[in-house]
Amino acid sequence: MGKGHHSDVIVIGGGVIGVACAYYLSKAGRHVRILERETIGAGASHANCGLIVPSHVFPMCLPGTMQKALKWMLRGDSPLYIRPTFNPRLIGWLLRFGARCNTQDMHIAARARIAMLDHSMTLYRRLIEDEKLDCDWEEKGLLFACRTEKAMDEYALTASLMEPYGVAAKRLNQVELQALEPALRDDLVGGWHHQDDAHLRPERLMSEWRRALDGDVQFEEQCTVTRMDLNPDGVHAVDTPRGPFTADAIVLATGAWAPQLAGPLGLNLPVEPGKGYSITMTRPAVCPAIPVLFCERKSVATPWASGYRLGGTMEFSGYREGLNHVRLDALRAAGRAYLKDPLGDETVEEWYGFRPMTYDGIPVISRAPRHPNVYIAAGHNMIGISAAPASGHLIADLITEREPIMDPAPFSIQRFQ
Ligand SMILES: Cc1cc2nc3c(=O)[nH]c(=O)nc-3n(C[C@H](O)[C@H](O)[C@H](O)COP(=O)(O)OP(=O)(O)OC[C@H]3O[C@@H](n4cnc5c(N)ncnc54)[C@H](O)[C@@H]3O)c2cc1C
Repeated sequence: MGKGHHSDVIVIGGGVIGVACAYYLSKAGRHVRILERETIGAGASHANCGLIVPSHVFPMCLPGTMQKALKWMLRGDSPLYIRPTFNPRLIGWLLRFGARCNTQDMHIAARARIAMLDHSMTLYRRLIEDEKLDCDWEEKGLLFACRTEKAMDEYALTASLMEPYGVAAKRLNQVELQALEPALRDDLVGGWHHQDDAHLRPERLMSEWRRALDGDVQFEEQCTVTRMDLNPDGVHAVDTPRGPFTADAIVLATGAWAPQLAGPLGLNLPVEPGKGYSITMTRPAVCPAIPVLFCERKSVATPWASGYRLGGTMEFSGYREGLNHVRLDALRAAGRAYLKDPLGDETVEEWYGFRPMTYDGIPVISRAPRHPNVYIAAGHNMIGISAAPASGHLIADLITEREPIMDPAPFSIQRFQ
């Protein structure tokens, strides 16, 4: 363990990405301290949908996304909502996002994402077994349920484009869908089963992963990093209201807030908050056994032995805090359109979180170009839970200068400088 306020590595941010970095660095023999503004797992990693999804190989910037976004722009209950804005940073981000909505960039992102998703699936299985993490892990796949033939046909095209990445989807007609998941309404036209996906309960993952690290990693909660102390040879100290902490290497893993500390280092890190919502309930009497993605509404129902959650929606409105009840009601309405019994008797939590969105859909796992001991692990978009283990492993590979688990080039921050 590091002495006093010094450690080998400081990880700023105790979300799933920061904790994954700490885990693999600790396994590599480094003394790690996590500095977290709130409590471990309080950010986007808390009440998200918990899907582990190689099926999400394609990013949000797909051909046609911008047209849909413009159509939905004025509807507060739409799956993707962009609040009209004069914020030049967000406008620049949206323009670059729009420019990436083409087939070529979609495949560039997919090649990077599939490496991260596949490695993470393997690492999750090992992690959960080695550390005995009790986090409702199940490998039942993910169902894409469709109300219309149009959605079935659109997804047929997507499914065929996924095949070269080794992502398989089984087409189900109405009868087959009902037989597999009787909790779905019987007026749906069919669906697709991604059998290789898994799911877990994210807040349990966070508390269990933390438990597994107790004694090996130092956790400093309610400890906001206000500044990184920049020297010619890098950053060796960070300031917090509790005084400075020093380390040989620093990992910036502050999710949607990563630009706030990266900016003063002269780094362009185009991460925008993509706000999403969820409602956690007790299990409905007729509860799905398999997680379901409602195709036309782009929201999700995730069942666990310990509970049930409706979640989704994407809102670009900056860091605007607070629950929007129109969007929470849209999640309930989506549930009603696809499930026989969409709501549990008791609401346990209504929640929102900020996804760290890059405009190219690729996370940033990288050494900072001009500050050799500063590393970035941020920008995980909609797949941060799915991609955490490989991200943490890659950061540990870069810091310990060992053979990387996957090619780090696509994740470099250089692409934005
Ligand atoms: C509704 C919803 C559903 C989702 N569903 C899924 C899903 O099914 N599968 C999936 O893979 N992904 C899903 N995601 C995405 C996933 O939640 C994120 O990609 C992931 O949680 C990002 O992790 P992170 O550690 O980068 O960020 P966070 O979890 O947000 O962690 C960043 C941490 O940094 C801390 N911090 C910020 N600034 C400072 C500072 N200055 N000093 C100290 N600490 C600081 C914050 O308090 C926070 O705890 C979903 C997201 C949402 C919103």
